[in-house]
Amino acid sequence: MATIIDGKAFSANLRAEIARKVEIVKQNHGLTPGLAVVLVGEDPASQVYVRSKGKQTAEAGMNSYEHKLDVETSQADLLALIDQLNNDPDVHGILVQLPLPKHIDEESVINSIRVEKDVDGFQLSDVGRVSIGAEGIVPCTPLGSMMMLKDQLGSLSGKRAIVVGRSNIVGKPMAALLLAESCTVTIAHSRTEDLPGECRRADIVVAAVGRPEMVKGDWIKPGATVIDVGINRIEKEDGGTRLVGDVEFKSASQVAGAITPVPGGVGPMTIACLLHNTLQQACRLNGVDVPE
Ligand code: NDP
Repeated sequence: MATIIDGKAFSANLRAEIARKVEIVKQNHGLTPGLAVVLVGEDPASQVYVRSKGKQTAEAGMNSYEHKLDVETSQADLLALIDQLNNDPDVHGILVQLPLPKHIDEESVINSIRVEKDVDGFQLSDVGRVSIGAEGIVPCTPLGSMMMLKDQLGSLSGKRAIVVGRSNIVGKPMAALLLAESCTVTIAHSRTEDLPGECRRADIVVAAVGRPEMVKGDWIKPGATVIDVGINRIEKEDGGTRLVGDVEFKSASQVAGAITPVPGGVGPMTIACLLHNTLQQACRLNGVDVPE
């Protein structure tokens, strides 16, 4: 039976560590990091994420600014708000909750955020830095996944890794980070031939597909480490719903050496990494070293 990688406990430790560092920059530099979260519309899942981001930001001792805009908000009005936040010295991180309503161009909005205040790592310049292995803001979900992998395995050098999924926000940056750690990386996607065979060769399997329980236990090499990024809501027999990952946990956990559960694996790490990125940007903007 695999070791269960406890993302909830890992995230709680990371957030406590961030809160300690925030207290130091407050005491020593009079700096309180501030994160602004912008939500357009009333998507229920987005509302839940925004609420927990606000709560955890405040718990880490940072200022949290929530901007909830009507679903009819024009792109020009949204850009005007971002401009205002770009110029607000109390705001060090700006996060626009995705997805945005259809009439708004996500790319223009994301790229209108001042690069020094980007905490998502989705801007083109961040993507470039991650792809050449340079310092910079790393997208939260891949960053959290890497922290757990390194904690579990120590050095990743020379390991065979497969990332199933090639999205700009998870799959591609995850592959770049694994490569930077000297893994031999395969990126798989919907056109990959013999996906089970590709997965079976890997010491590290990262699933970011968005297909409930697609990766089966007999796709996993015995002893491999499995990071399940997927969050899928499926119907239960009693008519209710439950969350499952992209990996069939029951069978995969019989074969893997270590595995993240869903829920309670990668998910909780994503917000912790958002706070990590906000602290980094606040320190950079103010010429302060991030405390050790
Ligand atoms: P996208 O839909 O943007 O990308 C999915 C990727 O999976 C695509 O590259 C697609 O290939 C590939 N894919 C789809 N079907 C198959 C298949 N049958 N075989 C192989 N590859 C396939 O998803 P995201 O990257 O945004 O998210 C992935 C999952 O992670 C989702 O469940 C999402 O909810 C979750 N997620 C979780 C987060 C967290 O905090 N834990 C944060 C972000 C996402 P192709 O490119 O060829 O179409």
